[in-house]
Amino acid sequence: MTPTIIIGTGMAGYTLAREFRKLDKTRPLLILTADDGGFYSKPMLSNAFAQGKSAVQLITQTAANMAGQLNVTIMTGTRVHTIDTGSRTVNTSSASFEYDKLILAVGAQPIRLAIEGDGAEDVRSVNHVEDYQQFRDAIDRTGESTRVTILGAGLIGCEFADDLAGAGHRVTLVDPNPLPLAALAAPALSRGLQSALMQRGVNLQLGTAASRIDRAAESLRVTLASGAVLDADIVLSAVGLRPDLRLAQAAGLATNRGILVDRYGRTSDPAVYALGDCTEYLVSDGRPQTLPYIAPLMTAARAIARTLTGDATAIDIKAAPVIVKTPSFPLALVPPPVGHTNGGWHETRDGERIVCRYFDHEGILLGFGVAPQEASVRQGLLAELGTASLSAA
Ligand SMILES: Cc1cc2nc3c(=O)[nH]c(=O)nc-3n(C[C@H](O)[C@H](O)[C@H](O)COP(=O)(O)OP(=O)(O)OC[C@H]3O[C@@H](n4cnc5c(N)ncnc54)[C@H](O)[C@@H]3O)c2cc1C
Repeated sequence: MTPTIIIGTGMAGYTLAREFRKLDKTRPLLILTADDGGFYSKPMLSNAFAQGKSAVQLITQTAANMAGQLNVTIMTGTRVHTIDTGSRTVNTSSASFEYDKLILAVGAQPIRLAIEGDGAEDVRSVNHVEDYQQFRDAIDRTGESTRVTILGAGLIGCEFADDLAGAGHRVTLVDPNPLPLAALAAPALSRGLQSALMQRGVNLQLGTAASRIDRAAESLRVTLASGAVLDADIVLSAVGLRPDLRLAQAAGLATNRGILVDRYGRTSDPAVYALGDCTEYLVSDGRPQTLPYIAPLMTAARAIARTLTGDATAIDIKAAPVIVKTPSFPLALVPPPVGHTNGGWHETRDGERIVCRYFDHEGILLGFGVAPQEASVRQGLLAELGTASLSAA
């Protein structure tokens, strides 16, 4: 029997395999992955330092364990080079395989900034447990109080800054915006995070960007547009990820920012599906959107597994808070829709807790942020979403 093939053993590929096996115990499933197929929770990468966790400790299951548990064949170290949608074949670094259905769970690639200087190629990013291991090794080689400059004060940059500073390293956080988390959080919460990071000892260089990075003896010299010069042992880029479109585009599948899928997770070829960081989902209001978080990929995996096993199920992605893992100022955020400008933030304080609600011009709640966050407060705010709750504020 021709197998269903999943490309990728990140959280998207493995979650889909798990959901599929709940519904169909026997149909052949083949998973192809360029990496070693070890299962790990990627969100742990940006808060593992302070806990002293190595990459090996983060990998909770090997590929062989996963293959046994899920009754699937996993081919590790196997990069898919091309997809032929006509003959329903994938061509890999080891062999070619036919599929009946194909699922792309190939993730995203770190965006590389064009920065001048011979040190620019030494800039690291952490989007995989192997990157984390190399990053840790580099820090261990430098010593106990490593100077780390992080480019980008978004979600991942702030989490790494808090984590590394908590582990005793000397961290500088650089971002062109005037506040950290500027794209996701209300200014009052960004300011709260800024002061918590400063209290942790993080040096914030905001409203500026790295203009060049040069090698200087054993370290790197980062020159900022503001004129400031920083010496760093390690420079970490956290400026964002770009969905990996290479296979999809070469196969002629429709793409935008991500691989475009319909309500069922199907790409422009009905035998090919996509989910996870590589995907641009059709959300309920009809707009395609990339959603590079765990909750959406889990919803997509459940729906696609049902569709693949004969029960066509639309992917219904509900608003889910992004939990920012910065222990010195723990936040939960549901940002307003991308590009929404016709509204405003409304701030309330309860003791040390700050709650910010984003209302549109008709007073409908479209987003929120809260710190310090906890489950009951998040749930209450989620229930308010979409309602005219200005009076509750
Ligand atoms: C540091 C960090 C912290 C995060 N924290 C959070 C958080 O707190 N909460 C949250 O919701 N989200 C968080 N995220 C985002 C979340 O982790 C991702 O959305 C999710 O893990 C993406 O999973 P994925 O399977 O789509 O992609 P990936 O994990 O990137 O997996 C892609 C897989 O595809 C394989 N692959 C790619 N190309 C090929 C090819 N051509 N041939 C074969 N195999 C291929 C790769 O080897 C890999 O196995 C975080 C992300 C990072 C980087």
